[in-house]
Amino acid sequence: MSEILSVIVAAGAAADQGADPPARARPAVAEPAAEAGAEFRFEVERFADVRILRYRVPGFAELDTRTKKLLYYLYEAALCGREITYDQKYRYNLSVKRTLEQIVRHYPGDRDTADFRALTVYLKRVWFANGIHHHYGHDKFTPGFSAAAFAAFVRGTPAPFPLREGQSLEQLVAELTPVMFDSSLDAKLVSKSADRDVLTSSAVNFYAGLTQPEVEAFYADTAGARGATSVSLGINSRLVKIDGVAVEQVQKVGGRYTEAIERIVAWLEKAAGCAENDVQRAALDKLIRFYRTGSLEDWDDYNIAWLRDTDSHVDVINGFIEVYNDPLGMRGTFESIVSFRDPEATRRIGTIAGAAQWFEDHMPFFGRHKKPSVTGISGKVITVVIESGDAAPSTPIGVNLPNSDWIRREHGSKSVTLANIVAAYNAVRGGVDREFSYGALEAERNERYGELAATLHVDLHEVIGHGSGQIEHGVGSLHETLKNYGSTLEEARADLVALYFAVDPKLVELELMPSVEVGYAAYDQFVRGALLQQLNRIEPGRDLEEDHMRNRQLIAAWAYEHGLKDNVIERRTRDGKTFFVINDYAKLRALFGRLLRELQRIKSTGDYAAIRELVERYAVKVDAALAAEVRARYAALDVPAFTGFIGPRLVPVRSGDAGREDAEIEEEIVDVGIEYPDDFTEQMLEYADRYAFLPAWN
Ligand SMILES: [Zn+2]
Repeated sequence: MSEILSVIVAAGAAADQGADPPARARPAVAEPAAEAGAEFRFEVERFADVRILRYRVPGFAELDTRTKKLLYYLYEAALCGREITYDQKYRYNLSVKRTLEQIVRHYPGDRDTADFRALTVYLKRVWFANGIHHHYGHDKFTPGFSAAAFAAFVRGTPAPFPLREGQSLEQLVAELTPVMFDSSLDAKLVSKSADRDVLTSSAVNFYAGLTQPEVEAFYADTAGARGATSVSLGINSRLVKIDGVAVEQVQKVGGRYTEAIERIVAWLEKAAGCAENDVQRAALDKLIRFYRTGSLEDWDDYNIAWLRDTDSHVDVINGFIEVYNDPLGMRGTFESIVSFRDPEATRRIGTIAGAAQWFEDHMPFFGRHKKPSVTGISGKVITVVIESGDAAPSTPIGVNLPNSDWIRREHGSKSVTLANIVAAYNAVRGGVDREFSYGALEAERNERYGELAATLHVDLHEVIGHGSGQIEHGVGSLHETLKNYGSTLEEARADLVALYFAVDPKLVELELMPSVEVGYAAYDQFVRGALLQQLNRIEPGRDLEEDHMRNRQLIAAWAYEHGLKDNVIERRTRDGKTFFVINDYAKLRALFGRLLRELQRIKSTGDYAAIRELVERYAVKVDAALAAEVRARYAALDVPAFTGFIGPRLVPVRSGDAGREDAEIEEEIVDVGIEYPDDFTEQMLEYADRYAFLPAWN
């Protein structure tokens, strides 16, 4: 079986980066009294369409010193890579970011003007999105200040700016002005448009000078030579045309982004030096090796070693991971998530993982699309210590890795739920669910079971959903066959698996939920989230682009239409407000099962025409009037559409001379403290000071 662009399956992040997502899992974390005080302020700031929260790290203080040191080294390794993400997303991101940071740090003039305030908000949005395109909608931000004001701020700030070699300040202004102010230039971060070349119409910095057919041709040659264990082509490189020839620029020590990658490696080496056990040390050593060689075989080796490391307390994701930002789904964006295990909540996910074969056997798939034996799915609940790159400030709440098809097939995958992030979301939930629930029954059921329903949905999506099913012999991997629709299909498939089993008595039997009422709450939640609540995230006049949003609407709109004759989901209006009410949960489950079988068939046979038809028909178009209504209802509730986080700060406590500059001597760290900064701008400027290793122009 040729499995060339194995990069992609699934992937993780974000069973629910989406709609109102961040679900409400029960706070699965036992918090020591000292940290659980009511005075902890979760929400610290709002700007544009965003609110900024903080999360706690319960249990950190009780960890032993070696574990804290390990976490600290991984924390530094995470942050050292953060600017790679900016550059990967758009070639001008670092120069715009650093120019604006200099203004905000040093501008000596009047800061209490509309222009300066607008510039500050714009920069915060850039920090939030790791670039000048919206992190979710992918449209370029519109500055709330003029190009003339921008030029005046630059000229009026006596500080060094990120000039190109030989460039004057005026030339820098002239270069950045259209980048920021011309709304038609590089307007979209990632284009999935069916009628334009997705590479030339995407601003993302993974390719230069190449069209989609040229990239496909480049990899077609490599593809044939690969067997059943094909590497993740393109995962750690940029592909550019030089003198008419496509060339991969590999991200590694001595290669692209070496300035940041060398730092990452140095911290990872320290981490390996205080690993918990040999398995963890082996995984870290292989990650270091991958960063040194850039070899795709080394990347696979590392991923397998990382999968084997299931017993350690501490875990880390660090690398070029998710491929959502690549229109072709090959290239990974840098991210890191550093965490330690939450043993209590991990038991729940272990129960689900333990029943994986039962779930596979009971899938509504055609028999030949079921896996005869499911291996290696492990799930756990983690407490996040720091996130960086593509995982911050906006974060997933569930992650399932690795993304390589063949590794998942032969070695399984690891699935995690980010418990303390979910707990922070729960702490600030408003009355949104009540607003979009039609009746008292639905609202009360949600109050009672909504958290558990959402938690189980994420767990089933990640632990069972992505790992299920098999591709027919001779059919290529997901993104090879389904191309730009691959991610949407895979997310829909995982969501449908979660939905299909949400009302199954098996979950009661496994003592995961007290009754199928929890499943009904999950159905209510999903339908109102997909057909109503997520529309709050769409700019007026826009269609759906993001994979998770598309997948949700695909499922709900398809089920709505196919259930019309039986009135399975009913659209009702009350006081000018729209609701979707589920009248028949059993029939809805049957519809979910039908669609799930069809999506599995499409994946298993690589039926591009079928997925294109489904997505374009159900998952893209937005009812503009309904979207406007939803936005108005949210506005009345005063809940921003997006949420992100300020990360904690780890502070090493050193023995001996506290003021020494060569602070990186391992033996000197006797403890690591944790602080919870509460100012977004301060944290971003602190990171900008400490972790700006890349040239502004790469
Ligand atoms: Zn997913």
